[in-house]
Amino acid sequence: MVKILIVDDSATVRKLLVHTFKPKRYQCIEACDGFDALEKLALNPDIRLVISDLNMPNMDGIELIGNIRQNPQYRDLPIIMLTTEASIDNRKIAFDAGANLYLVKPSPAHIILYKVQSLLEADT
Ligand SMILES: [Mg+2]
Repeated sequence: MVKILIVDDSATVRKLLVHTFKPKRYQCIEACDGFDALEKLALNPDIRLVISDLNMPNMDGIELIGNIRQNPQYRDLPIIMLTTEASIDNRKIAFDAGANLYLVKPSPAHIILYKVQSLLEADT
């Protein structure tokens, strides 16, 4: 099973994403902020893709992406930013930090699934 890391401070959003991916035989690891995500990533080096929120307490999504990209091991790890922040500025900041894709909430489940599959295929 392909492991993906779902990072969001909203338990509801995490639950929705898990419900999207589970039937498609993805194994979802959940994290509630950037710190938690880095910890989960260290514990699960076989995580193949990250979906992260932007606004979170303790460590936000931009800082998280910066931290992930600093590790040469995760230079090519696909990262999707999934956020309610639709501004061009935020998109630019996310891409500059190293995000591969930027999706605005609410994004339909089938779109998120399709994007994840595309990124994973490009990665292999
Ligand atoms: Mg949030």
